[in-house]
Amino acid sequence: MSREKFYVTTPIYYVNDVPHIGHSYTTIAADVLTRYHRLAGRDAFFLTGTDEHGIKVQQAAEGASKPPQVFCDGIVGQFKKAWQALNIKYDNFIRTTDVHHEEAVKKVLQDLHDGGFIHKGKYEALYCIGCEQFKTKSDLVDGKCPDHKMEPEVRSEECYLFKLSTFQERLLKSIKKDELKIRPLERKNEMVSFLEREELQDVSISRSKEKVSWGIPLPFDPSHTTYVWVDAFLNYLTGLGWPADRRNFEGFWPPDVQLMAKDILRVHATIWPSLLMALGVELPREYFIHGYFTVNGEKMSKSLGNVIDPIQLSRQYGADAIRYFILSEFPFGQDGDFSIKRLEECYNSDLANDLGNLLHRTIPMMEKYYGGKTPEPGELTTLETELREKASGVVRRLDRLMGQLKLRESLAEIWTVVNMANKYIDTAAPWALAREGKTERLATVMYTLLDCIRIITILTFPFMPETAEKIWSQLGIRESLSDQTISDATAWGRIQPGTVVTKEKPLFPRIE
Ligand SMILES: [Zn+2]
Repeated sequence: MSREKFYVTTPIYYVNDVPHIGHSYTTIAADVLTRYHRLAGRDAFFLTGTDEHGIKVQQAAEGASKPPQVFCDGIVGQFKKAWQALNIKYDNFIRTTDVHHEEAVKKVLQDLHDGGFIHKGKYEALYCIGCEQFKTKSDLVDGKCPDHKMEPEVRSEECYLFKLSTFQERLLKSIKKDELKIRPLERKNEMVSFLEREELQDVSISRSKEKVSWGIPLPFDPSHTTYVWVDAFLNYLTGLGWPADRRNFEGFWPPDVQLMAKDILRVHATIWPSLLMALGVELPREYFIHGYFTVNGEKMSKSLGNVIDPIQLSRQYGADAIRYFILSEFPFGQDGDFSIKRLEECYNSDLANDLGNLLHRTIPMMEKYYGGKTPEPGELTTLETELREKASGVVRRLDRLMGQLKLRESLAEIWTVVNMANKYIDTAAPWALAREGKTERLATVMYTLLDCIRIITILTFPFMPETAEKIWSQLGIRESLSDQTISDATAWGRIQPGTVVTKEKPLFPRIE
């Protein structure tokens, strides 16, 4: 039997600007999911990348007096640096300027044209240049785009149109029946009511080359370039190597989860699945819409000067602290606020106190009582059997929570094991056992503690890979951490007596 697969995507990020903490949020979540599903024994593929065509990039490159490709290369370098700084390991970083992507886009457009899905016409509609999206009247607040506070242009130009209107019923049905699942539920309901209320118009898929030169020329009319969204959506296919790499494509398609923020849900729930239907390709299984960030209660913006640079942040606090904080602070799927003050509080309480202390209490006792050598455990008491049962319960709940993208709740579950282990030290009081010469009991307690730390380490690995590796090395276990699976986290007694633990520097020195 073949193994289950898991394919996750982030949106490809538009390169008119450098990476910020908002991009990091989505990408960290995708990385954690990928690592978790691998741990759970699935074949996982994690795709991210950059969206590099279109008028805004063209203008940004002009503003920087650089040829667009050189400009894109520079920003892409910054994205890759940010992902490296945050311990993010994608399986592919797709760029819409990759030659094989451009060729695939041309082939798709030719196929859609040949199949009668594209026709020439005029398009007249309200268009927000900030969003690079068409707007309906009901989207506007006081006649302006609510996101960009500017009046949309009325666009009328000769262009090629994709027959989006013919897909309305099928889209509505797939979304209603969760064939294309949209979560959280309120986002699904928004899309359902949108599709019930508004009549979809055929959508322009081209711009005149005169106006937008930085784009992929239409194969059947090179005086037009491809509308940036159509180009961008196809990355989810080409990022798997489609159409040439059939094996990889068939192994991972369709996406199990596509992550995005709410500003791009509508285009993802209309144009993207319609393109797939027209191509006869299976639809994605789920979109998960995460919330927006404010910073210290304010919307993040360049003019306010509160844009957070992920590279600088990870240099200061470490990648894992950022990963932990950003996912534990508020539920994935809801809006939340980011503040350095909360980051530092969370660092001190959850990381330095809870997790850090567990290690800094256990390892020195091991050195003191056993010279670091893991003892052979004796008989278990109810104290140990209860701890084991509760921890195994957490592991069982984790798969369901992670499947629902409840990342914050998953971390909270793992932290209950951390807290149980700390409490176990207090209750079992190894120092008293040592003083009273209860050697067999002492050995059982110290062994159980190490075994519990081993399990915590496996469970935290997807969230905090660097920290988990450090703890693993202190435990001295010979097998590699990345070879461990979730079933190793439900099994006890996996540490070979005699294994030598080593004390290292504190994992999370307190921030004063
Ligand atoms: Zn706008």
